[in-house]
Amino acid sequence: MTWFKREDNEIVNDPEKTVRTEGLWVRCPSCKQIVFKADIEANQQVCPKCGYHFRIDARSRIENLLEPGYQLVDLELRSTDPLKFTDLKPYSKRLLEAQRKTGLNDAIVNAIGHIGPAPFAPIPVVLSVMEYAFIGGSMGAVVGETIARAVDRSLATGHPLIIIAASGGARMMEGIVSLMQLAKISAGLGRLDDAGIPYISVMTDPTTGGVTASFAMLGDLNIAEPGALIGFAGPRVIEQTIRQKLPEGFQRSEFLLEHGFLDAIVPRKELKLYLAQALTWMSNKTEPTETSTNPGNQ
Ligand SMILES: [Zn+2]
Repeated sequence: MTWFKREDNEIVNDPEKTVRTEGLWVRCPSCKQIVFKADIEANQQVCPKCGYHFRIDARSRIENLLEPGYQLVDLELRSTDPLKFTDLKPYSKRLLEAQRKTGLNDAIVNAIGHIGPAPFAPIPVVLSVMEYAFIGGSMGAVVGETIARAVDRSLATGHPLIIIAASGGARMMEGIVSLMQLAKISAGLGRLDDAGIPYISVMTDPTTGGVTASFAMLGDLNIAEPGALIGFAGPRVIEQTIRQKLPEGFQRSEFLLEHGFLDAIVPRKELKLYLAQALTWMSNKTEPTETSTNPGNQ
């Protein structure tokens, strides 16, 4: 006599009866430990065990950095697919998919608001944050124009500009139109510099290609998150070109800091305080006098 009898041999995967566990736990790529996803989310997408920085979406970054009452701006721009480009699929289709996935029109969000955890007085800032989940955070005409508008907002108000980069570089589907954005943004940042308005560049994983070659490296302060990939061409391309093996950790934040390309590495959870301190210090600086800047005229 059998105590248990199975009526058929098929194991039926009934979604109603299955306890869903996928998505609740994440294996940290750095410390390899299994971590409860909610713990990572509560920790601004940083592994609570080892401090590994997971990628985080643009709107969460803004929410983490700005005081309540901030405003998202310049969200209405959309790419016109100027080259009618098709690779594996039409660019217009890629755009629609990315828009559906991220809820954004393109790979960037501008915000105006205040940075100011106590004891700092709230400092008004213009914040521009890239969204890596939108076609690899690539920079086409819309990203370029959105950053240009953030620069214009800083120029009009005198408020400091912060750009948080997360990008694979220029958007190849917009060809030369995309490359033009490098010059356009750099020119705008030049005007900001002339006006003596601070610009802080925050590089996150990854910041590469045309974004590194333009605004990401043009900050009055260039800072990065720990372990971020930052570079122009990828390591494989460089190795093939110079026919040399690259050193360990090449193109990571820590390597770049050691070699003078960065001013600081700031963990995500300390970023708000760091920015408030830096901006307070920058805005308290007295204007250089005519004699100190131009001693030859004395
Ligand atoms: Zn970890």
